[in-house]
Amino acid sequence: MQQEYVLPPEPVSNEAIAKRLTDAARAEIHSGRLQKKNFVWLELTGCSGNIISMMNGTNPDLEYAITSMVNLVYSNSLMAAEGEKAIEKLMEALQGEFILAVEGAVALRNNGLYHVIGNWQGQPLTALQAAKMLGERASHVIAVGACATHGGPSAAKPNPAQCVGLQSVLDRKVIQLPGCPCHPDWFLGTLAHLLMYGEPEMDNLNRPLMFYSTSLHDRCPRKHFFDKGIFAKTLGEPTCLFKLGCRGPVTRIDCPTRLWNGYVSWPIEASTCIGCSQFGFPDQMAPFVVYDITRE
Ligand code: SF4
Repeated sequence: MQQEYVLPPEPVSNEAIAKRLTDAARAEIHSGRLQKKNFVWLELTGCSGNIISMMNGTNPDLEYAITSMVNLVYSNSLMAAEGEKAIEKLMEALQGEFILAVEGAVALRNNGLYHVIGNWQGQPLTALQAAKMLGERASHVIAVGACATHGGPSAAKPNPAQCVGLQSVLDRKVIQLPGCPCHPDWFLGTLAHLLMYGEPEMDNLNRPLMFYSTSLHDRCPRKHFFDKGIFAKTLGEPTCLFKLGCRGPVTRIDCPTRLWNGYVSWPIEASTCIGCSQFGFPDQMAPFVVYDITRE
């Protein structure tokens, strides 16, 4: 007899935590009770997907964030300066206090020469040198996205550039925001918390608990299908995707209540969860889709 199922409820957005924090930080700065801090966004070995994700932010939008919450002194994607003029801004940042956000992995091969981010005084400046130089002096360091937190796709087999996560080259605490990409709320909420209260409460892997405390599976609207053993046979079906390879049960993140792209959808609604915000992604999460659903 064919099993009956009901459609899962519409996902509900949970933008509240990040919005409360960013609204409060902006209000404090606007009133003069809180000083803006210098801010550096360093792009290392990756696809620039995190800065693109930030441009999708609405709590507030990125332009508002980098003008009203912080003084953006360096971002190779967003700044007008090019070449040594841009690197000059990076060097100037070292003279004062600043918060550092890093996206992308650190390429170690050939002493870092597999990734040169620019030239300074006639010499190549490697991503490895920049990560160490800025990471050692910043007041806070945030690794944004999977490549920065643990190597991510940049460190996937065979990893020709010998990429590693930022923490591997820094002997200090790095706040970890894994995700491929990182959600704008995870980053902006963390940044606002740093400005207002200092470091947020974190787990043993330095992930902020306000975003990374529960498994995606536990809050998935399809979990009642999982509990009843009703599994999809192809992507696109509205039941549980576990037998197709869904990585929700091993992924700690708030996607089901956070939602993406202006809070309209999320990976399970679009296709499936590939565990992109879990350490070990992508190698430890592959294969992303399992077609042998005859297996019990
Ligand atoms: S296995 Fe995936 S689709 Fe099924 S309930 Fe868990 S997170 Fe949702």
